[in-house]
Formats: sequence, C-alpha cells, structure tokens
Amino acid sequence: MKFLLILLIVLVVVWWWRTGRSDSSNQDEARKPAQAPTPEAEKPQAMVACRQCGLHVPRAEAVSGDLGLYCCAEHQRRAES
Ligand SMILES: [Zn+2]
Repeated sequence: MKFLLILLIVLVVVWWWRTGRSDSSNQDEARKPAQAPTPEAEKPQAMVACRQCGLHVPRAEAVSGDLGLYCCAEHQRRAES
C-alpha cells in the first residue's frame, strides 16, 4: 500500500513536471516574436531638424526637398516655393 502511494506521488510529480515544462516552452515561443521587433525599435535613429520650423524628426520620416530636409511636405512646399 505504501508502494502504491509513492508510485502515485511519483506519477503526479512527473505529470506536474511535464505540464510545467510545456507551459514554460510555450511562454518561450510566445516571447520570441515579441522580443524580435524590440532591437529594431530601440535602434538609435538619426534625428534631423526641419529646415522650415526646426522640429527634429527621425531621418526616415523626414521629407527631403531640394534645399534640405523637412518635417512634412507642407513645410517643404513653403520653404521651396
Ligand atoms: Zn517643419
């Protein structure tokens, strides 16, 4: 009878260990896609000043005109027309 009790405890521990492991691996799977974009988002972006108003905008979002960079197309039009 004591042997059966120990066997039952061992089975429960093994079941608990296996479900716990699969849960943690699922969390790892779920965490990976969330972590992937983070380095991209945290990359330092070059900031440029708008030639019209002086507002600093990321280089990728700046509008480039003939005379320089602008925060928006409206300021490019105003400065260059
Ligand atoms: Zn501007």
